[in-house]
Amino acid sequence: MDNLKKELMEALKDQQSIFGDVLFDNFSFELQPRKSKEFAVTLSPDKSQEEESSGNSLFQEEFQKAESLVDLNKMICDCQMCSLGKTRTKFVFGVGNPNADAMLIGEAPGADEDQQGEPFVGRAGKLLNDILKAINFAREEVYIANILKCRPPGNRDPQPGEMETCMPYLMKQIELVKPKVILCLGRVAANGLLNKKLTLTALRENVYELNGIKVIATYHPAALLRNPNWKRGCWEDVKKFRKIHDELTAKNG
Ligand code: URA
Repeated sequence: MDNLKKELMEALKDQQSIFGDVLFDNFSFELQPRKSKEFAVTLSPDKSQEEESSGNSLFQEEFQKAESLVDLNKMICDCQMCSLGKTRTKFVFGVGNPNADAMLIGEAPGADEDQQGEPFVGRAGKLLNDILKAINFAREEVYIANILKCRPPGNRDPQPGEMETCMPYLMKQIELVKPKVILCLGRVAANGLLNKKLTLTALRENVYELNGIKVIATYHPAALLRNPNWKRGCWEDVKKFRKIHDELTAKNG
């Protein structure tokens, strides 16, 4: 299948170089890195129908057909799309209620997560559980995932190419879980999900919308461990998160 795709793309590239703008309007045939925007549209039924009819679905990857999180995990857990596939111990897919209305998104697995294959299980994870408890959420009630599914060595920042390559997996998880509200943990997670380049201060000021899902940002729990002064701001953010959740899930809302 991969060879067929490559051959097809080579043929289309040849056509592009011959017929140029007459046939191709800013169309890119690169297989990697995958463009997050192409995948973001899969969340919107209208857009994906448009894509179907325009023929771009020719390049849809197998995992896009997953009908459940379990299936999706099976399809992507051996991923080698970036170099982190070689250095990880475990692929960290995500955890929680597959039908959660509330979803939390972090940056990337750390050492503990890499060992255990579950997001937020180290010190930052324990603090996250306490934060959730403070707004009356059990960890099992929400869904938790990261932008990257594999640990960057030495916990370095995720590289833009790694984020772009991994983002379609997260978008597919969001599509399957269908949360009503997402809380991004930290600047990297929020900018990655929202495709922005803002400070956390700026990100915290707004309620964003991603394909009809409300998105807000707060401090990363690891940052709160280093700077307890930020806990007050985090408290305001998570109260907002709970309020948005409650408003959107109220029976008559
Ligand atoms: N930090 C993250 O962003 N994600 C984890 O899963 C753990 C620590």
